[in-house]
This record gives sequence, C-alpha cells and structure tokens, in this order.
Amino acid sequence: MRSWARPRVPTLPGAGRLPMLHDTATGRRRAPAIVDGTASLYVCGITPYDATHLGHASTYLAFDTLVRVWTDAGVDVTYAQNTTDVDDPLLERATATGVDWRELAASQTDLFRSDMEHLAVVPPTHYVAVTDVVTDVARAVARLLDSGSAYRVPTEGSAVDDVYFDVRAAERDTSWHLGLESRLDPETMARFSAERGGDPGRAGKRDPLDPLLWRGAREGEPSWESPVGEGRPGWHIECTVIAEQTLASPITVNGGGSDLVFPHHEMSAAHGQALTGGRYADLFAHTGMVAYQGEKMSKSLGNLVKVSELVAGGADARAVRLAVAAHHYRSDWEWFDSDLVDAEARLRVWETWADTAPPRPDAAADHATTSPLGATPVESVPTGLLTSLRAALADDLDTPSALEAVDRWIASGADATSVDLDAVTALLGVDLLGVDLPSRADEATA
Ligand code: ZN
Repeated sequence: MRSWARPRVPTLPGAGRLPMLHDTATGRRRAPAIVDGTASLYVCGITPYDATHLGHASTYLAFDTLVRVWTDAGVDVTYAQNTTDVDDPLLERATATGVDWRELAASQTDLFRSDMEHLAVVPPTHYVAVTDVVTDVARAVARLLDSGSAYRVPTEGSAVDDVYFDVRAAERDTSWHLGLESRLDPETMARFSAERGGDPGRAGKRDPLDPLLWRGAREGEPSWESPVGEGRPGWHIECTVIAEQTLASPITVNGGGSDLVFPHHEMSAAHGQALTGGRYADLFAHTGMVAYQGEKMSKSLGNLVKVSELVAGGADARAVRLAVAAHHYRSDWEWFDSDLVDAEARLRVWETWADTAPPRPDAAADHATTSPLGATPVESVPTGLLTSLRAALADDLDTPSALEAVDRWIASGADATSVDLDAVTALLGVDLLGVDLPSRADEATA
C-alpha cells in the first residue's frame, strides 16, 4: 500500500551513536541488537477512524526519532507498519455514522498519511493494510491449527467456527510464556484482556486469555473465503503475519503505545514464536499515554486533539512536533493548549537563529533527498550542537534534553552553521530552512 512522502533528511558529518532503549520485556535499558549493520522496526499502526490524535502522533514521532537516530548511526533500517482497516471498532463507527467501512478506513488512512507528512515523519518501508493480507493470515491460522497451537470454537449464529490461539499449548511447546514481554501478573492480564479487545468470558475457550485468531463470518460483517473457513482476521495475528512477511526475524524493535503491552504485543510474540520457533522481537518499546482535560485521550471519551485540526487552525506542524517532543516518549503526559503556544515561541527563536547561518548554495539541490556526505563542503565536522543532540537522543531518545540543547546553543550566542541546521532537520525532524517541503505541497489527500 502507498505510504507517504519522505521528508528531507540531510546526511550528517561523522556518525551518531547506536541508541539505548528501554526494553519492556526486561525492564532495562540497552542497545537493540544490530545485525550486519541492519535493524528492523515494526510499529503497530492505527485503526483508521478518528485519526490522528496527539496520542498517535506521540507514538509515531517517537519511533520516527528512533529511525532517524539509527540512520545517523549508519544503520540500514527496514520499517514496517500496518493499518488495521477491518476491526470491530472501525465497523462499529461505520455502522453508527452510516458510512461504508471501506470508505471510512480509506478516508482516515489518507488523513493519517497527510498528518505524517505534516509532522515530517519518515515513511515506513512497508505500509500494509490488513485487508491486503487476509489470505496470508488465514494460511498462518491454518498452520497454527495443524501444529496444535490453535483450536476451533463453534459459533452461535454462524456456520463457521471461530479459531482461538491456545496459550497453554504455546507455553508447553515453545519458549514463550505469559508475561515474557509484559511482565504482568495474572490479575492484570485478565483485566487488560477484557478492556482491550479480548473476550475472557467467551464459552468454549480452553483458557480465558486465549486470543481470537480468526472470526468466523457473521451476518452483516465483512468476511473473506479462506482455508480456515469464511471470516476475518483476529487482531494480534495480523501484525505477526505482516512482520513475518516484511522483516527479518527476530524484529529488532517491536513498538507501539503502552496500551499494546498486553495483550497485543504479548500475543503477537506468542503467535510469532509458535509459527517460526524463534524469538519474535529483540526488544519491545512502548510510548506513554497522552491525556487531555484530565483524562487519557481516547476515542470513547471524545477528548481528542487531532493533528489535522491543529494544522487547519493555523498551527505550524513543526511546532506541533516540537510540542510533542518536549515530553519524553515513555512518560504519560497531558496536553495543554498552551503547549502549542510555547512550542511556536520556541520555533520562532530557532528560526531567527537559523537566519544567522551563511547562505546554502546546495539548499535547493538536496531538497527532498538524502544529501551525500560531502554535500556540505565547508563544515564537514561535527559541531558541539550535533554532538549534544546525538548524545541526548542515543540516551533512550531523550528529545526533551535535545530541545534544551538547541535552546542552550542558541542562548550561548553562537551563529547557526549549516551543520547545525542539518542536525536539527535530520535528528529532530524540524526543518528550519523554510524550503517548500513535499508535505506542504501535497495537501490534496486531506
Ligand atoms: Zn500490532
């Protein structure tokens, strides 16, 4: 599936450090294992309705920072992201609003692309819609049935059985176990399963935590013919299959919001281990939740602040990015409308400073491309600012410290150099040159 336009990402002199990241599975900070100079990243995408609120933006900006830091360290990154374009919440919204679910998914996915372009997020290598891999998911479910990792549960009102993953069989047959990734206690797992799309009370299941792999066809719901009967994919298996198809195994980093720690990532990992026999991911990274008006920003509460609405209201998308980056990605934080005012003030200071840089004869030439090393002939050595930014971001993507490093550099009275501006563009995703970005030129999709 089409992703979105790539922002300008200049190549910087020297090489950055490999980043340390907090690993949910171990509770420790460490460098994800880079194999032969390559890294793979899977970040769970949106369910395309109510896109893109600041909670989403915070997640995709955090992993965009990881992509930028890895790239600066010379790592060849392959990045996959899905869009869950058929799922219960999407279908419920489509029914409630009288819109065809396919139209709702397509329009919200377009809006998401436009938001990612505005925020200068580097697009994933593979952007995959679940509806494009339904048959592949069914084949994976068939393999799990064959290996004894899954079982059928008869469905009232449907001729087709549902298929569930057998958690206890996975614990018996593989080195995966409940808690491997989440480190949660059984009571919390049961609660999260009920709150986050699971069905612990479903009759006929072997274990309450067993997740759905395949939902047999129901009247009035979309379904596809498949080797395991007509129906549609469960939630966790879709990510496992897309990751398996697009990325080397194990995934270097599996990422998403902290509400995906359990059951989504725990079960995606279980499915992956049952399918391949190997570990699913080297490191699991999670972003904090964003609140607004005292409550976690959520579709159900309706307290969403959306990127597209901020931009339509006249906000500079770079200021939105700065406002989000002022919070550490792992913290839970609350958005205040004043955050945007503060970020716009910061952006104005940075832009005034950028005007002190000498003119760039190559500014037009490297527009929308990665400039080769040597394209900045005059100042091809790391500056103090570049060194500070690299150090902050390698330390668990500490964007608040990185922003403060720029503030301090400017306050010291130093004129901007082209390396400084390239560093801010490449590592923080904030282009101070004011060139006509591809994202600004492609508003039609919104
Ligand atoms: Zn996922």
